[in-house]
Amino acid sequence: EPELSGEFAELMKLADKYGEIKVRTNADTPKDAKVARNFGAQGIGLTRTEHMFFEMDRIKAMREMILANTVKGRKHALEELLPMQREDFEGIFEAMQGHSVTIRLLDPPLHEFVPHQLATQKELAEDMHISLQAVKNKVAELEEFNPMLGHRGCRLGNTYPEITEMQTRAIIEAALNLKERGIICKPEIMIPLVGTVKEFEAQEEIVRRTANAIFEERNDKIEYLVGTMIEVPRAALIADLIAEKADFFSFGTNDLTQMTFGYSRDDAGKFLPIYIEKGILKVDPFEVIDQEGVGQLIKLGTQRGRATKPNLKVGICGEHGGEPSSVEFCYNTGMDYVSCSPFRVPIARLVSAQAAIKTTM
Ligand code: PEP
Ligand code: MG
Repeated sequence: EPELSGEFAELMKLADKYGEIKVRTNADTPKDAKVARNFGAQGIGLTRTEHMFFEMDRIKAMREMILANTVKGRKHALEELLPMQREDFEGIFEAMQGHSVTIRLLDPPLHEFVPHQLATQKELAEDMHISLQAVKNKVAELEEFNPMLGHRGCRLGNTYPEITEMQTRAIIEAALNLKERGIICKPEIMIPLVGTVKEFEAQEEIVRRTANAIFEERNDKIEYLVGTMIEVPRAALIADLIAEKADFFSFGTNDLTQMTFGYSRDDAGKFLPIYIEKGILKVDPFEVIDQEGVGQLIKLGTQRGRATKPNLKVGICGEHGGEPSSVEFCYNTGMDYVSCSPFRVPIARLVSAQAAIKTTM
């Protein structure tokens, strides 16, 4: 794995001496986590657990979960995922050696798991001993015109609480296993796409109930936090209410930008260049935080959250977390940390120092 050395490493150490806003990384694998540690990341600000579901056996388990019609059937379908996820999290916790790790509960659009192809539908029907028609009916029932505005994030976890239970169990058991090996980690469990207090409460209840059950089973405990992404504009507006329940906030500026402008983040490359050339926008708001709009929601959300809980931990984990002007903006907003991809960590550390020094001049 790459690492920093020589004069560059010295310069970065100096930067950390002055930097105030912490720099974390977005990492989904132990390998990414190690690279980021070598680059000086002080923790993980976002593990996207949906990225752990690219392999066929895991997708298949999810498909069987969707097709199961009972709680028992859904739990059964997810059983084989539990040891895999526990191993995923153990690897990440171990790589981070006790530094903070924020793990986000599953956040793909559901349609990525819906079996659209006939061949797949036939195979599932056979394996699950159900009719092909039953599979087709379920697929039709779950069809969405706008998956990115639909069955995603906590909405998924509230429709299928079994997913939240399985992931929480994997996270907490991984942390307990590491504790037995002398590594203390305090997982930060993050709920995605929250827009109402009820959505957060429903997920939090599942997380805490599951964690308590494990503590009793194992007769052992660890500390953990339950927090939320702030990425739906409504969440920023009701941040004072959400902060009554959430232990921390992390701004998801990718979705927040998409929903504040009404620009599709997946198609922005097709139309933003025209907007920028015609001078309607100065820069790509998916690259640089738009301080006039999205930035106002970030400031408002932070202020309202901290009006309720003065010490509320606040960070950012959208792509902007590693872009210099955005890092400076986050520092000036009073955030505790930025989180960016591993290769942007050194830049963010430098900017963190520059931003802090600027305020003393
Ligand atoms: C975001 O929306 O900014 C975010 C970090 O989450 P994702 O990119 O996974 O939607
Ligand atoms: Mg998001």
